[in-house]
Amino acid sequence: MTRSAVASVDVAAVRHNLTVVRQLSPQSKILAVIKANGYGHGIVRIARALSGADGFGVAHLEEALALRAARIDKPIIVLQGFSDALELQTMVEHRLEPVIHQFEHIEMLESTVLARPLTVWQKINTGMHRLGFALDDALKAWQRLRACSQVDAIRLMTHFANSDVPGDSFTLQQLELFDRITAGLPGERSVANSAGVLLWPQSRMDWVRPGVMLYGISPVAGTDAAALNLRPAMTLTGRVIAINAVRQGARVGYGGAWTATADTHVGVVGIGYGDGYPRHARSGTPVLVNGQRVPLVGRVSMDMLCVDLGPAPTVKVGDAVVAWGVGLPVEEIAQSSSTIPYELVCKVTPRVHIVEQDHGQG
Ligand SMILES: *Cc1c(COP(=O)(O)O)cnc(C)c1O
Repeated sequence: MTRSAVASVDVAAVRHNLTVVRQLSPQSKILAVIKANGYGHGIVRIARALSGADGFGVAHLEEALALRAARIDKPIIVLQGFSDALELQTMVEHRLEPVIHQFEHIEMLESTVLARPLTVWQKINTGMHRLGFALDDALKAWQRLRACSQVDAIRLMTHFANSDVPGDSFTLQQLELFDRITAGLPGERSVANSAGVLLWPQSRMDWVRPGVMLYGISPVAGTDAAALNLRPAMTLTGRVIAINAVRQGARVGYGGAWTATADTHVGVVGIGYGDGYPRHARSGTPVLVNGQRVPLVGRVSMDMLCVDLGPAPTVKVGDAVVAWGVGLPVEEIAQSSSTIPYELVCKVTPRVHIVEQDHGQG
């Protein structure tokens, strides 16, 4: 039996989604966030599809070097900065732009001899309490960066904690703190993630930093991607590998977690958590078989999952299955698995072949 799960990635959809970002923030430069292997879509593939972006954001040096090795020569921002002098020198060598989020970074900048000055992004903590200078330290940190001869441009940034909630007052507070603390400082500013681009026009500023929306996924709970004019980039597909008649009362899968309430047919699909399908997807989670929604039944296993095809199925072994993507939003599968779509696309495992498609203009 050949492998079943394949993720097709439609680069035209990615290009289309970039145009949506452009339309929403025509005055801003776009830093396309492609960390975590392009949210599981393939970092180099996505960088090439997004040649219309103004720069790329990645989490780590290694991700940035993968892009440079593929001759991606746009600005690349490394969101977690650097951890030692060698990493800092490597960043200079490859013209990478680190985020500076703690005084240790400034000390390394002051004490390391660099081949040329570098552009940095100073991150300020306005309430997320993850990375960034405390409000009380932000000005002092900026002054030290300005005084450092090895620093070229200083850009200013912060990150939202709650921006996916429309009208959220904490987001307004973060915006207000950012404006107050950076008032009077020169330099370009960047605040908006995807939800900022979509819901918070005042956060767009000089650079927007969309991630998830570029992959055609809605960051806003309860608003689907189609309503935002986004097209899903990834479709995770598989095949029916067996169909079994099952009697009323029979229990299906590990733990016998699902019991047939009537005589039916169970389709076995060659996708499991070993491919990245969430093991916690509940019975009833929709699966598309030949374009029709059927319910997942029983526990998802490593290489397979089961669906209820009903008493008189027309489905045959070998028929096509969509686990998520075009025709079945990944947001729905996430909801039904108590997680977020970001996690699902990031966790597609290496054994899944990624097939690139280019479905038209965009
Ligand atoms: C991941 C990330 C983004 C992109 O967030 P999305 O919700 O995917 O748009 C933007 N900025 C920072 C600092 C990030 O870590």
